[in-house]
Amino acid sequence: MTDIQRSCIDCATGGCKSPEQGRQPVFCESAALSAEERAGLAAAYTDLDLRLEQAANEVAARCGREGLCRLEEIMDFARRMGFRKLGIANCGAMQAEALTTAKILRLHGFEVFGVSCKFGSVKNGEIGVPEGGMAKPEATACNPLAQAARLNEAGTELNVIMGLCVGHDSIFMRHSDAPCTTFAVKDRMLADNPVAAVRTCGTAAYRWSRLLREDESLSV
Ligand code: SF4
Repeated sequence: MTDIQRSCIDCATGGCKSPEQGRQPVFCESAALSAEERAGLAAAYTDLDLRLEQAANEVAARCGREGLCRLEEIMDFARRMGFRKLGIANCGAMQAEALTTAKILRLHGFEVFGVSCKFGSVKNGEIGVPEGGMAKPEATACNPLAQAARLNEAGTELNVIMGLCVGHDSIFMRHSDAPCTTFAVKDRMLADNPVAAVRTCGTAAYRWSRLLREDESLSV
């Protein structure tokens, strides 16, 4: 623990939100930025980034006023961006949920094109995945690159991720032309609610959490 480089995850001040109050910790890199560096960060936003930022802020503000579930937020965000054609990149294990999602999106006026993870029916051996774990050469590969390529070809304007495995989602996001947003994440142990692993720390559930066995400091 002594060698860790402290960063925002080690800070509980929230001082960067109101820097004039001087609550940033000594290791705060934000407080150490020069005026030029700060200006450079601001200037890095492209026109698309700025539109995405504005739409995201408007959705968050509306959610604060009215209360929106995540799916409503995605629809509101897409409308504000002028996105009509939405892609769904889903895990095959979430096919039923993806179908219902598509029905809802279509009911609300969106065009939906979905690509499931085994698209292409390519075998692990064919794409050269090293053997190991679940990646048997003769098994059909999870194919996030093909999901992205097909959605790119379909011209989707916003790609909605549903349940892609950790890492497969990384490949998908690397290759998606359209901006991506996550609707559902897969957690095989926690009913697709991964944050439960950390929100239960300090609760009775913590007693059987295996995530913090080596650090009792978070125990209440
Ligand atoms: S930027 Fe500074 S004040 Fe903000 S969370 Fe990071 S360390 Fe804390």
